[in-house]
Amino acid sequence: MLRALLLAPPGAGKGTQGDRLAEAYGVPHLATGDLLRQHVEEGTPVGLEAKRFMDRGELVPDRVVVDLVSRHLAGPEPLPGFVLDGFPRTLPQAKTAYDWGKTHDRTFHAVVSLDVPEDELVRRLLERGRRSGRTDDTEDTIRRRLAVYKENTRPLLDFYRDRGVLHEIDGTGEVEEVTRRIRDALDPLVASG
Ligand code: ADP
Repeated sequence: MLRALLLAPPGAGKGTQGDRLAEAYGVPHLATGDLLRQHVEEGTPVGLEAKRFMDRGELVPDRVVVDLVSRHLAGPEPLPGFVLDGFPRTLPQAKTAYDWGKTHDRTFHAVVSLDVPEDELVRRLLERGRRSGRTDDTEDTIRRRLAVYKENTRPLLDFYRDRGVLHEIDGTGEVEEVTRRIRDALDPLVASG
């Protein structure tokens, strides 16, 4: 059973790789961005609050996200395995997740970071914006999201490196190639239980 977190900037391929890894390891793929977009679409109170942050490329407040994740992930019967993408994304979120994981025997086996140069990230996101029409994939918002990643999320790499679970993977090249690199890092963890 695998509990993995994908920790990478916007455009690095968390969604794509998350789907492929979830399938490979037989666990659900949970993406807080998708959960939030679903709430926005349905016009729930969480969605209404989240939307104004998401549209500006800002992070949704920790309390909203922690509440959302705990409802989907940490209920009375917490999922034994998952590939998580998009949470935690701030140090307070990481500390909350870690403390909760310690108490419930649900800490991450692996945190996978995907390294992709910034100009490639911008190129991919603009392309995605053209194709999918995701409202936060516009040039200004993309720049803001990358800045927010550097400031708030990148420090989590040290947090997980210190805990010995970080795997830094080259996120450039073909999708299959990237999946292969990640699996080479994760397969031994799953085999050893
Ligand atoms: P990307 O990684 O391309 O920015 P996501 O779908 O992961 O795409 O996230 C989209 C938006 O959802 C973020 O810009 C942010 O506003 C919000 N969001 C997602 N996860 C979190 C989180 N853990 N904490 C705060 N905001 C979040």
